[in-house]
Amino acid sequence: MERPAIFVDKDGTLVENYPYNVNPALLRFMDGALEALGALALGGYALVVVTNQSGIGRGFFTREQFALLQAELLRRIWDEAGIRFDDFLVCPHSPGRDGRPACLCRKPAPGLLTRAARRHGLDLRRSWIVGDTLDDVEAGHRAGCRGLLLDSGGETVWRRSPLREPEGVCGSWAEVARTVLGAPQRPPLTADQDSAYSFRRL
Ligand SMILES: [Zn+2]
Repeated sequence: MERPAIFVDKDGTLVENYPYNVNPALLRFMDGALEALGALALGGYALVVVTNQSGIGRGFFTREQFALLQAELLRRIWDEAGIRFDDFLVCPHSPGRDGRPACLCRKPAPGLLTRAARRHGLDLRRSWIVGDTLDDVEAGHRAGCRGLLLDSGGETVWRRSPLREPEGVCGSWAEVARTVLGAPQRPPLTADQDSAYSFRRL
């Protein structure tokens, strides 16, 4: 049986937002993040980071620099909380001139989530994305997941549309864990709804 996952945005969600940072010394976990992720892992959820890192595409830092930051982040999560993430997926691309994704993986496009699902056999319909912007929520919805907005002040442009309407707005990571673990199961999709997902376009 396919596992459900929690897709976790990095900046402003897992760690405090420090734009274009690749210095491990500046990594600070958001309050309650590790406790909540531990509870969700125990609840049977795979854990996957999905992060836009246009600093690579813009030439602010290299893939190698980011890979070192990623390794240090995952090491600290293991050392401090005994939690292993199942994967860590990065969009390295710059957005197009209009600010929208120019690739299939930059959130709000769903490419990182669908790639993780294929790689690990994840059940997207039973999965959630947690992020501090509505682009995260939209990426989750485009992949067929539910989406929670962790309101840490990251969302500054409240461009609303049905795809950007979160299933919940949480003021803390503890509330994220309670919401996911307390949510009713979703009924399976009908065949029509299922094909509607595959034809959604940005
Ligand atoms: Zn991309």
